[in-house]
Amino acid sequence: MKIIVTGGYGFIGSALIRYLLADKQGGFEVLNIDKLTYAGHQESVPGANLSKQYQFRQIDICDFDEVRQAMRDFKPDAIMHLAAESHVDRSIDGPSAFLQTNVVGTYSLLQAATEYFRDLEESRKKSFRFLHVSTDEVFGALADAGEFSETTPYRPTSPYSASKAASDHFVQAWHHTYGLPTLATNCGNNYGPFQYLEKLIPLAIMKGLRREPIPVYGTGTNIRDWIYVDDHVRALMLVLNKGKVGETYNIGTRGEQRNIDVIGQVCSILDELRPEAGAHKDLISFVTDRPGHDFRYAINPNKIYNELGFRPKESFESGIRKTVTWYFEQQNQWCQAVLDRAAKLNESASPMSRRGAA
Ligand code: NAD
Repeated sequence: MKIIVTGGYGFIGSALIRYLLADKQGGFEVLNIDKLTYAGHQESVPGANLSKQYQFRQIDICDFDEVRQAMRDFKPDAIMHLAAESHVDRSIDGPSAFLQTNVVGTYSLLQAATEYFRDLEESRKKSFRFLHVSTDEVFGALADAGEFSETTPYRPTSPYSASKAASDHFVQAWHHTYGLPTLATNCGNNYGPFQYLEKLIPLAIMKGLRREPIPVYGTGTNIRDWIYVDDHVRALMLVLNKGKVGETYNIGTRGEQRNIDVIGQVCSILDELRPEAGAHKDLISFVTDRPGHDFRYAINPNKIYNELGFRPKESFESGIRKTVTWYFEQQNQWCQAVLDRAAKLNESASPMSRRGAA
């Protein structure tokens, strides 16, 4: 099976490519299309360049001609679209890139995929899929009760979630109007190895390791529905292989946690790894809340559980332990490489100066 992965040097995209290349029985061939923005890191797919199953093209998905050419050359059986601007705080500071990549970029991919699909022979048309990867943030914020299902109305509140919501609507429109065989997923907050250091969990770990204040928004009571990144990848493969064309699937694990409890668990594991460093929870520092900060997200995963048989392999306890241990061991390798690249790119704000958004 030949798969184009967009955003394959990002956090989730790289986990997907590592999974595909490790699955020797699956016989996957992968073309990674990635612009290599500040969030893309070639170190996140170690050894890929040595694999005959792997190709990379540094392309901006907004560049229709390049994207179309890549599809013509590679001749994919499926496209898994993960490239995006993904950080809510950055979308508040500078929404323009979010509109470009998330909306115009998705449009350009859909358009190129539709042309490519039309020219396929009938037998290949039947199995071709375009899988769009999106977020639960499109549904807006919940109060203490309730859950998001696939039929929850969209109510995005940040520039990031608005741009993802728009892209989701375009995907549905291309299915209904042009017959493109699409699938779409809406997932909760991912965590795990290789996540860029500006996000809540890696930032807390790195700050803790450096004994710097660990920033937590507001009072830390906001709730997110967490999933270990490799579980997300397995869910995406299930949807790709077994999902019903035109449908959307929520991906969740009933993994609700308050931010402050997530940080508390990170601190306890750091205490175990570095008992000599003193209690890491003493480093927690509450900072002014994000404007319009959504209070709670919670996913009802019944559809993917019941129809596709999805079950996560990691509990939050096991996943967070793996994650903290990985960053602890990678401080001077992957983490340092990422920090060096941010400095080289002259990133306006170093990932370590961010405020721990989830
Ligand atoms: P990420 O920011 O870690 O990676 C994004 C990748 O896309 C990077 O490699 C970047 O170089 C690439 N990219 C950005 N703009 C591009 C462009 N114009 N052309 C080509 N490549 C471009 O993101 P992530 O956390 O891995 O998220 C992947 C997808 O999953 C996104 O669509 C995101 O909305 C969605 N998602 C993420 C989460 C989460 O918790 N991280 C949760 C649900 C859904």
